[in-house]
Amino acid sequence: AILLHMTDGIIAFDKDGNIMIINPVAKELLNIENEKNFDQIFEKLDVEINKEAIMYLENWTSLEQKINIGEKNINIYFAPYKDENNLSSGVIAVVQDITEHVKLDNMRKEFVADVSHELKTPITSIIGYADTLQEGEYDRATQEKFLSVISSEGRRMADLVSDLLTLSRYDTNRVTGNITEFDLGELAKKCQEKLEIEIEKKHQEVECYVTADVPPIKADKNGIERVILNVLSNAVKYTPENGNIKIYVGFVYNDAYIKVIDNGIGIPKEDLGRVFERFYRVDKARSREMGGTGLGLSIAKEIIEQNKGSIDIKSEYGKGTEVVIRIPALKKEEEK
Ligand code: ADP
Repeated sequence: AILLHMTDGIIAFDKDGNIMIINPVAKELLNIENEKNFDQIFEKLDVEINKEAIMYLENWTSLEQKINIGEKNINIYFAPYKDENNLSSGVIAVVQDITEHVKLDNMRKEFVADVSHELKTPITSIIGYADTLQEGEYDRATQEKFLSVISSEGRRMADLVSDLLTLSRYDTNRVTGNITEFDLGELAKKCQEKLEIEIEKKHQEVECYVTADVPPIKADKNGIERVILNVLSNAVKYTPENGNIKIYVGFVYNDAYIKVIDNGIGIPKEDLGRVFERFYRVDKARSREMGGTGLGLSIAKEIIEQNKGSIDIKSEYGKGTEVVIRIPALKKEEEK
């Protein structure tokens, strides 16, 4: 029963490599049916494997073999087993599906590569401009131009590092957040005011509609404010001058929601599913130019999920984008 219901596959081979026991999971993971012994299995899998090294494993050793079967990554762990006289009498193979693990590991590697790349770009220009300034005599105007590049690239690095720190704090659940009761409509208006300068610069029209019956929500107010600011500033960033942005705050099925709709550049279909990924940007060069780190929406997702809410994005390329954030509202009896 144990073997039958385990999530790991188990195969026991005798000294000659014949299968003594195999559980259903092992058959399924390795995609095998009637194979009787070691050679048949690995022939079917088309994997070169050193049978001698495995069959004559020393008592205290073990061996691992990673193989790919279709889309799956499988790890087989071989260890010798002994009979009652302490003599080695065969090998046990534990078969595990490590697809998820491999995926996570690749994501981690990609993340490190992305971070290094994102930091390297500004560092290269800072060093470049600083060296140039040191080497030559430049007039005041040129010096100022170089210094302003150095300063803005430095600031970009600072933003990036600060976003990375935020992300890592949320990742490791180190943000306990100050959970308070507040009104989503008021917060939305406050965020709009905070972005007034950017909005005016682009001559955009931003309207905020709050339906009257939105109950208060109990959540990490600073976190939610950060998310709204990010979503709204994306709407401002990715909407051309004279564009329209609408904010709706309302209540549906026990959730308070905030919807930000813009009539900006939109997001192509093929990119839409990936905008919540770390460092994913539809147009890398342009987003960077606008001061984007590519981390905003991934941080937003972390924060919203920790507050038991959801964040979704809809968009039509060239037409506009709609982001909806939902957060569970307090039921009437929960209100003070
Ligand atoms: P960034 O810091 O680059 O803005 P985000 O994580 O906030 O990063 O957003 C990821 C990407 O999603 C952006 O680079 C942009 O391409 C796209 N995006 C987000 N919001 C909008 C929007 N309102 N309109 C068009 N594109 C958007």
